Amino acid sequence: MKTRFAALLLAPLLAAACSTTNTPPAAASAPVATSAAVYPGGMVSAADPRAADAGTQMLRQGGNATDAAIATMLALSVVEPQSSGIGGGGFFVETDAAGHVVTIDGRETAPAAAHPHWFFKDGKLLSFPEAVPGGTSVGVPGNMALAAKAHKEHGKLPWATLFAPAIKLARDGFEITPRLYGMLKTNAKVAGFTSEGRALFYGTDGEPLPVGTLVKNPAMATTLEALAAGGPRTFYEGANPRAIVARVTNAPVNPEPMTEADIAAYAAKDRAPLCGTYRGYKVCSMGPPSSGATTVIATLKMLERFDLGALGKDSPVAWHLIAESMRLSYADRNRYTADSDFVPVPAEGMIDPAYLAKRSALIDPGKTISSVTAGTPPGAEKLAWADPAMAEEHGTSHFVTIDRTGNAVSYTSTIESPFGSGLMVDGYFLNNELTDFDMNPELDGRQVANRVEGGKRPRSSMSPTLVFGPDGKLRLAVGAAGGATIPAQVIRAIIGVIDWNMPAQDALGLPVIFAPGIDTIFIEQGSSLEAMIPALRALGHDQVVPRALPLKANAIEVIDGALRGAADPRSEGQAIPE
Ligand code: GLU
Repeated sequence: MKTRFAALLLAPLLAAACSTTNTPPAAASAPVATSAAVYPGGMVSAADPRAADAGTQMLRQGGNATDAAIATMLALSVVEPQSSGIGGGGFFVETDAAGHVVTIDGRETAPAAAHPHWFFKDGKLLSFPEAVPGGTSVGVPGNMALAAKAHKEHGKLPWATLFAPAIKLARDGFEITPRLYGMLKTNAKVAGFTSEGRALFYGTDGEPLPVGTLVKNPAMATTLEALAAGGPRTFYEGANPRAIVARVTNAPVNPEPMTEADIAAYAAKDRAPLCGTYRGYKVCSMGPPSSGATTVIATLKMLERFDLGALGKDSPVAWHLIAESMRLSYADRNRYTADSDFVPVPAEGMIDPAYLAKRSALIDPGKTISSVTAGTPPGAEKLAWADPAMAEEHGTSHFVTIDRTGNAVSYTSTIESPFGSGLMVDGYFLNNELTDFDMNPELDGRQVANRVEGGKRPRSSMSPTLVFGPDGKLRLAVGAAGGATIPAQVIRAIIGVIDWNMPAQDALGLPVIFAPGIDTIFIEQGSSLEAMIPALRALGHDQVVPRALPLKANAIEVIDGALRGAADPRSEGQAIPE
């Protein structure tokens, strides 16, 4: 399992390494929030300043956090096409000023025809890179249904208004950033899989268009105009689903049956938010089909009995404890989390304080747990799932919006791998989210909870999170992109803010340790954690591997009612005040 896991992770992580340090593109409006400044009013933090600006425009027009979040999601579809978009899905976590939290699940679904051996061709299991391009990996997109539901229930501005900035970016053009260029270079096979992708982003010599090139995407502008004028059902009925079905069923590789009925049947779902407590703070995040909430909350809860504040960020023992707790929570995640509409998921049990107290007792500050396995949380007594390896990638974007009345949205949007399946429909990429299923439905004679089934949603790691202070008021809204490293990034940010008393911006700059439920632990290559390798080895971590992790987080924190933005210093992201 260890070797298999390492092999699965290696390729995507190396690809990410080529595109992390960049000069950010300029947003249309200033000023940009910094770690020092606090602002009254609203704010948007996103992985691209042009998308953050789109959200901020909504706030300035009297829109609320939901309006801003939808406009940001749409703009990211245009300017960060490698990461997320209307051809993918996402999770939306919202609170009002009174702290009432709702979550909406806009995760992609497998077509009705899908089955546990979906990723087997001629009896042979496809490798991850074989499975990504073409039709097999495409789930019915959920972001437009999510946006429609969120807008209907929480939005304020007219629907069409939310599309204006994204349409302008697509119609008038946007510049290729260093990050997009790097992604086009390292993922040319997928980004340039179709003639539409090649025409948009590559020159006649087959090279990506240089940084700074103005790209116009008129097909995307027309798609967005149709959605703005015709409403969200335009995405699920008529010409658009016909085009999606044509692309998926006639894909040059991995053609698969997806029907217009599959697309028409898509529904975004209300899910109960999962919340837990950490040192008097309340942490709410996304439950199944995401593993975000359970992994973040369980890891933090098991750490509560240790004084991380006193240990400090420079202590190898602190990072050892974080890694140990993460190993335990990821082991549970790997075994138990999947779409709870298809399999029983003991999500409440996985964050049950009494259960976690017993799990935490396994953690020793002076020594590594020799081998970690999943526990038996309440509700899991009769479940006998297998323990699959993880193979998630990093084509995702997180953004946070807060308005002046105190509503806040934490929204993670994705097309899964960079440029998704490579298939394009009228200017946008279709996701490859179905590779987030475990492609092998059975291991060692036991079924895998997250196996493919018709109509099911693949398990996610996305962790759009809200943290409320002991006074009940919102303190931090945070999330990240980066596949299975997402909970690890969010955990690190929360510990930075709560235990180490850091501004959120500095907390996002902290290094990341990633301990995905196996004996190997990964530390961020080139970070201060590398100097701790001997100390971590002395604590018993024989397998500490420095790795170029795909890290990209965004956050906003609230300090005495004012806002302070944060965007991952490894990314092109920025926070922009209203
Ligand atoms: N598809 C992944 C998930 O839902 C996210 C990919 C990424 O963040 O890069 O967990």
